[in-house]
Amino acid sequence: SSPLDPRYTFENFVEGASNRLALAAARQVADGSASGVKFNPLYIHSSVGQGKTHLLQALTHRLKAEHPEMRVLYLTAEHFMYRFVQSLQTQSALAFKEALRTIDLLVIDDMQFLHGKQIQQEFCHTVNTLIDGARQVIVAADRPPVELETMDERVRSRLSGGLLIEIGAPDAATRRSIIERRIALTAQHMPGFSVPDDVIDFIVRNVTTSGRDLEGAVTRLAGHNQLTGLTLSLTMAETTLKDLIRVTDTRRVKIEDIQRVVSKHYNVSKQDLLSSRRTRSIVWPRQIAMYLAKSLTLRSLPEIGRRFGGRDHTTVLHAVRKVEEMIGSDEALTQEIEVLKRMLEA
Ligand code: ADP
Ligand code: MG
Repeated sequence: SSPLDPRYTFENFVEGASNRLALAAARQVADGSASGVKFNPLYIHSSVGQGKTHLLQALTHRLKAEHPEMRVLYLTAEHFMYRFVQSLQTQSALAFKEALRTIDLLVIDDMQFLHGKQIQQEFCHTVNTLIDGARQVIVAADRPPVELETMDERVRSRLSGGLLIEIGAPDAATRRSIIERRIALTAQHMPGFSVPDDVIDFIVRNVTTSGRDLEGAVTRLAGHNQLTGLTLSLTMAETTLKDLIRVTDTRRVKIEDIQRVVSKHYNVSKQDLLSSRRTRSIVWPRQIAMYLAKSLTLRSLPEIGRRFGGRDHTTVLHAVRKVEEMIGSDEALTQEIEVLKRMLEA
């Protein structure tokens, strides 16, 4: 299986409104109390750094410790592919397939990286066999199944058929707990390390993206503290954490939201936006929407083209370039796009 981080335990996981459901589901699976029917497959998705890997590994640790008789396999999608390809080369593909189908719990992390038709089909067989045998399958990914654009349709619909849980961005109380836990953990290695209340408040207010960024903020302050020997101040935190604060989590903006906001703003229907109509009053908003999709999401040009009525990636590229050009020369447009971006990132 893939390597596990011993620090990713339930004890070290901070519960909050944004992750409560995912945590409860993971706990129930770890207790063995989840009914195979209710939870199968369990699919957890979120933008990066919200604790998916942490939760998946926490339940794996717990089961390995408390139910050593259970065969639990934790694999990243990349490891799954690697193992599959390796087994084909050594002509032990059958053995790998058999091994996969006799486990009690299959945990697949970063599902969005499972590429290749043959591998996806093999994955599908495995999941079907496990679920038919009332064994648990848990999957994590950075987006819901419908948005796994390069995934085999059967895999997508299989994954959509179980329990889907999204982990959102942490609220202020959760952010504070994550920071405080991190400070306490850091202090175990750095005796005397502490962070003044005004600095903690500053982080809570400004680093709003993810657990990972909150941890990063504390780690950075600790590093600074260790190097300079200076007590932490608000001014220092403001400079040291500048880039974490500017980060907006691009993965949270959805193409549907862009299409909704743009069609409302320019008063064209979403249907027209996706249509092949070439009227200027439609073409321009469409190009802006494609530009926004490219700059606010991590979707590729072909993916964006598909989501805009099955257009070619060169059409998307053309739109992106055109809008970029116009932004350079048109102050009003620049502001208009800023407003749209702010609406989408709010
Ligand atoms: P993901 O897999 O969703 O990208 P990770 O599980 O890798 O996120 O989490 C990133 C980092 O943030 C890890 O070090 C993890 O321990 C920490 N983290 C995220 N959310 C929480 C949380 N609710 N409680 C404690 N740590 C968290
Ligand atoms: Mg992860």
